[in-house]
Amino acid sequence: VIEAERACYETYYANVHRGVYRLSQEATAAFENARKRTARFLNAGENEIVFTRGTTEAINLVAECYGRAHLRAGDEIVLTELEHHANIVPWQFLRDKIGVTLKIVPFDEAGEVHLDAFVAALGPRTKFAAIAHVSNALGTILPVKAMIEAAHAQGVTVLVDGAQAVPHMTVDVRDLGADFYAFSAHKLYGPTGIGVLFGRADLLDAMPPYQGGGDMIQSVTFAETTYQKPPFRFEAGTPHIAGAVGLHAAIDYVEALGLDVLAAHEEGLRAYATRVLGRTPGVRLIGTAPRKAGVISFVVDGVHPHDAGTILDRDGVAVRAGHHCAQPVMEHFGVAATVRASFGCYNTRDDVDALAASIVKARDLFGL
Ligand code: PLP
Repeated sequence: VIEAERACYETYYANVHRGVYRLSQEATAAFENARKRTARFLNAGENEIVFTRGTTEAINLVAECYGRAHLRAGDEIVLTELEHHANIVPWQFLRDKIGVTLKIVPFDEAGEVHLDAFVAALGPRTKFAAIAHVSNALGTILPVKAMIEAAHAQGVTVLVDGAQAVPHMTVDVRDLGADFYAFSAHKLYGPTGIGVLFGRADLLDAMPPYQGGGDMIQSVTFAETTYQKPPFRFEAGTPHIAGAVGLHAAIDYVEALGLDVLAAHEEGLRAYATRVLGRTPGVRLIGTAPRKAGVISFVVDGVHPHDAGTILDRDGVAVRAGHHCAQPVMEHFGVAATVRASFGCYNTRDDVDALAASIVKARDLFGL
């Protein structure tokens, strides 16, 4: 990723889609190649890939553009209780703007979202569902393919927040049947500041633009403006060119490793960590769904998660501590925060052992 971005900045750094000089044409080719690569990665068409700032912007784009075009006061949008704030707040904006209603599908004590509960939430007024593929706070993998099938049977359009899925498993948007799918490059070993919205071509075609500016127009007069086709209609202004190039390299990297290999590696670590932390005194696991990605959330009896995070850091163990931008999840479990360890391709069992040893040390420091 670093080398690809470096080559971009050093050898063909120019704006895209607007220069006839060689550098600009090379930059345009690299940027559009990144789009083609991303399309292949998700099994989508290249006109179905919109580059955004990240998952957050992708979801806001759909809430704003799809919402404005197709949703009306009284329509229902179904979310699950384990959504990241990025998949809650944009829908609240829409609720406050046009009067849609939000319906929340609860998860059970293990942190699992059941298909039945989702189906029960779909009513005659439901028009849209926005659901996580994998929970960032708990690691739960949702049965999104079956959820999408059930939603489509009732004419409900579905957005999947794939921020936590894309780095950990093969994602095929056609096979899932997703209408919209969002992810961020930085969770895929790529750069920050760039992400992807997949949108079904016919849906993107029928959506008005999100932001106005350069590159998204066909023609402008003071009286009237016409817009480009998707995806360009949704990419106003200079995009994150080097970021797209970095994302391309990140996709090459994970596919060379093999997403199935990565998933198996992380699943092995998660199972090992579940066993090790399960016998570490004072540790309570939060989220024990049977199907989980490589994420373990927990609390340590008598040690605040922020203190645990600070003490672990001194041992070189990097964990997230906080509400993980999923406050409704914390509320469900009656905790203000958790400690979360998440596994990537670079982690080993030694890292899990170091985590457990450091937790024991933290409890010692607190005299527990
Ligand atoms: N959705 C989920 C499930 C996430 O884990 C995150 C980030 O942590 C987001 C959305 C938001 O992603 P970003 O901050 O890259 O836009």
